[in-house]
Amino acid sequence: MENTQKDHIFTEIYIGIHSVMVLMVLVYYIFSQSYQWLMTLMLIFYGIYVGFELYLFATRQILTLESMLGGYFQSMIDILFISICGSYLDNYYFTALPIFCTFILIASLANYRTKSIIHGLFSTLGYLWVGILNGYFPLGVVLFQGAILVGFSFFVGELNQLISDVYRRNHYAMEEIEYKNQLLEYRATTDFLTDLSNHQAFYQSLEIIAEKHAPITLILFDIDDFKAVNDIYGHLSGDYVIREVSQIIKKQLRAADIGARYGGEEFAVLLPGTGEPFGQKIAERICISVAEYPFEFDHQQMRITLSAGVCHSTMALNRGEQTMLVDQADELLYYSKRNGKNRVTCAQFK
Ligand code: GH3
Ligand code: MG
Ligand code: MG
Repeated sequence: MENTQKDHIFTEIYIGIHSVMVLMVLVYYIFSQSYQWLMTLMLIFYGIYVGFELYLFATRQILTLESMLGGYFQSMIDILFISICGSYLDNYYFTALPIFCTFILIASLANYRTKSIIHGLFSTLGYLWVGILNGYFPLGVVLFQGAILVGFSFFVGELNQLISDVYRRNHYAMEEIEYKNQLLEYRATTDFLTDLSNHQAFYQSLEIIAEKHAPITLILFDIDDFKAVNDIYGHLSGDYVIREVSQIIKKQLRAADIGARYGGEEFAVLLPGTGEPFGQKIAERICISVAEYPFEFDHQQMRITLSAGVCHSTMALNRGEQTMLVDQADELLYYSKRNGKNRVTCAQFK
């Protein structure tokens, strides 16, 4: 399970502390004026390493570094650096202990529990090694501090697990909320029977599209004598016909076009960037496809036809004009109905 957000935050803090540490040691080293070649070399290497780490972080490739040596590469380098600092910074070694502890804490939190504990144990070994070798403190003090560090590492390991759990739960909760929001939006804008946009979503699309796109074509379709389909073949057959017709309409549309179920057996199609005669051609193609389609439900064959009203505008339309566009397409549709149905009537927006 990935904790991308958590990892990112702790990696950020971790690299920040790296940079601060380099600066602090550098400043101290320059002011102490007790230069030693190994310390100078280490500082140069560590400085380059931190610079490289910052570069990888900025270019989002930090993971390659984080996964080197089974994920322990960074902790090895840190411990080496802190140990060498410990060897050369003499009595300031003691002052470095809190920084050391914070460092373990931060570095460990970027990982998971086991890794964080092993990191702590490595650090303790480094601490003991330098402490015993240099003999700044009596052995008992060094061992006592080592024991504190081990205990601290286990504490951090548990804390790490706790934080991971919180993040994980938070992550799941956010995912669920996002999923439910999407579902809610889908249900609010999509027609249940046909999967086309619903009446309200159609008007929202019209408002956004018609204000920007010209030319634009609106087609209104109405299934002819649909009441008879329900009366003769039953309501379920009627639903089947509505679903099949919407599929036929959908197949004729491009990705930018909007297909909506405008009402019971009425459909609206919005074609942005389409004017005459292409809009009329699409309406005719859909009407012919429906008229030729072999509708069959419950072993009953049906012939279905559509009437259409096509209104196209060469200019973008404001809110009031958009309503007029729908009204004019509706009038054209009823013109088709009055003139024998199964036909398309087309006109320019006035
Ligand atoms: P015209 O050719 O003039 O359009 O006649 P029509 O019979 O199609 O028109 P009318 O508006 O009189 O009838 C539409 C019918 O569509 C009435 C209604 O019961 C039916 N209807 C509306 N929504 C649905 C639906 O979701 N499922 C079914 N099965 N029928 C529906
Ligand atoms: Mg109708
Ligand atoms: Mg009808």
